[in-house]
Amino acid sequence: TYRALRVTQDGERRRAELQTLPLSALPDGDVLIAVSYSSLNYKDGLAVTGQGILRSVPMTPGIDLAGTVLEDRSGIHAPGDAVILTGWGIGERQDGGYATHARAEAGWLVRQPAGTDAVWAMSVGTAGFTAMLAVMALEDAGVRPGDGEVLVTGAAGGVGSTAIALLSAAGFTVTASTGRSGEEAYLRELGASTIIPREELPAMKRPLEKERWSGVVDSVGGETLAGAYASTRTHGALVVCGIAGGTGLNTTVFPLILRGVSLLGIDSVTCPQPRREAAWARLARDLPASRLASVTRTHGLSEVTALAPQILAGQVRGRTVIDVNG
Ligand code: NAP
Repeated sequence: TYRALRVTQDGERRRAELQTLPLSALPDGDVLIAVSYSSLNYKDGLAVTGQGILRSVPMTPGIDLAGTVLEDRSGIHAPGDAVILTGWGIGERQDGGYATHARAEAGWLVRQPAGTDAVWAMSVGTAGFTAMLAVMALEDAGVRPGDGEVLVTGAAGGVGSTAIALLSAAGFTVTASTGRSGEEAYLRELGASTIIPREELPAMKRPLEKERWSGVVDSVGGETLAGAYASTRTHGALVVCGIAGGTGLNTTVFPLILRGVSLLGIDSVTCPQPRREAAWARLARDLPASRLASVTRTHGLSEVTALAPQILAGQVRGRTVIDVNG
């Protein structure tokens, strides 16, 4: 048997509860994994509180997991291999990481980089992986350290915190936008050199504002993204990651056609495998466990239902690792 946090339908409402199930209840997939750690992301907050991200119920949420291969019918992975799985629909379309065991396709797994462990991998998780993809996207768009300030919005959250650490490791000058003034010391320790209040970007209402950002990593969306876009410098780039502040984008095409600004999207869920492997290798190099210590808290699986509303309310700082045996 295995233990899982399951979201079930209870009349009109969905609710989450710990259940013990036979291994035969796991979904199809070549690889059986003994999960050791998962993590808490914004999407997991939505799933656990019953807000429509799960394609069907009952379902095990958890869009991230790290663990050890028990068997692989495809022969690609050997028993005992340490692996990481993020995205590909786990914790959304099929059972995810909030369980002691999981089944998945062999091609979805990334080998744990040498010198790292499962706690590190989940401290990075989808949020850190997304931040890495965002930094790589900025670099691919030609944004270089020395071009000027790079803005990170939702700075004290999971994507934001790890983006700051990664950008600063790569030599960029980072400005952090946050709604939590109490987190200034934390954001500076991660590598931000300037902190701006959350209200500053939505206040930029003109189609073209004064040019400031050479690059932007945005996890907030809405008016924050619109303000950042209007103040991005000529030939700068914005990487759009999230919707913590809204899904709308009310703006004009002028930054695109008068400043050559690039508006880029990230989808960590379907990121192709070679890009995934490159991102994880660079994460292992640029974001070692020592750099993540101040960003990370660990909680047990039994605490996830209490933590879920907190991440949706923007009250969780940095990254939360979930010990699925705890
Ligand atoms: P998180 O830890 O909750 O971080 C979100 C941050 O956004 C909060 O810490 C807060 O930062 C800020 N924020 C929250 N509510 C806000 C509001 N109403 N207005 C303005 N700012 C607000 O979540 P996460 O795991 O980092 O994820 C962030 C977003 O990225 C989510 O929308 C998530 O779904 C998305 N995401 C997308 C991908 C992808 O592949 N595209 C991957 C991962 C995550 P401050 O307190 O510093 O202001």
